[in-house]
Amino acid sequence: MADLKGQTAIVTGASRGLGFAIAERLAKAGATVHMLARNQAGVDEAVAKLQATGVQAKGWAADVGDAESLANAFTAIVKESPSVEILINNAGITRDGLLMRMKDEDFDEVVRINLRSVFLGTRAILRTMLKQKYGRIINLTSIVGVHGQAGQANYAASKAGIIGFTKSTAKEVASRSITCNAVAPGFIDSDMTKVLTEDQKTGILSGIPMGRMGTPDEVAALVAFLASKDASYLTGQVFGIDGGMGI
Ligand code: NDP
Repeated sequence: MADLKGQTAIVTGASRGLGFAIAERLAKAGATVHMLARNQAGVDEAVAKLQATGVQAKGWAADVGDAESLANAFTAIVKESPSVEILINNAGITRDGLLMRMKDEDFDEVVRINLRSVFLGTRAILRTMLKQKYGRIINLTSIVGVHGQAGQANYAASKAGIIGFTKSTAKEVASRSITCNAVAPGFIDSDMTKVLTEDQKTGILSGIPMGRMGTPDEVAALVAFLASKDASYLTGQVFGIDGGMGI
């Protein structure tokens, strides 16, 4: 397991699903974890669950797509923990629909929460990471951002945007020992995929060589490695974690 003792991490979208599993992994590896989500009650419950296991976790309610809301949370975190070694930009949503019928607000909201948030969060923490000449930034993209998906033009565009953003950031900050990578999950068991019909799930599973969904903890294990000092020479990469779906 990665050793993150003495480090501070911020995880967005940490109240459930992949974000919660990532926060749990990082905290168990020794990091103090700041967990963000929109819904205060959801954050409080998630933090209480982790604290009950004896790890260091703190919660913040913020809308990651809103510059002021995110800046307020990040400023308060940096005031408490002047060093922040790890940022996991994980929060994301879907608003699926065929392109012909997709509403402007469904496109804009998905791009705001999935992509703009990555820009806002990364920019907000960069000054701290540049000063400390160390950092690990990990952005959650998706297999859909690489291959596209009918009915998800908005989501795919936001996730493809994250890949371009990740590579550009990696180039800008590499000389300061800050790495920036993207993780691209396939089909993972979470609230996001629970909304799919049995027929849709069966169709997706037939395209996965491993024949099953992934678990949030399997994604968290990869993220924890990338967040560790062991991943010092990896940057600007997109790591697929999809049971072979993208082969
Ligand atoms: P879930 O829907 O299970 O959880 C989403 C999390 O994001 C929640 O904690 C939610 O908190 C938070 N969130 C949503 N909107 C905002 C916002 N505006 N501000 C702050 N927090 C917000 O999603 P998953 O765990 O499944 O997905 C996590 C990430 O992984 C996403 O980026 C997703 O696109 C990506 N991914 C997931 C895959 C999957 O199969 N599950 C596959 C590929 C990628 P709240 O309830 O408070 O809004």
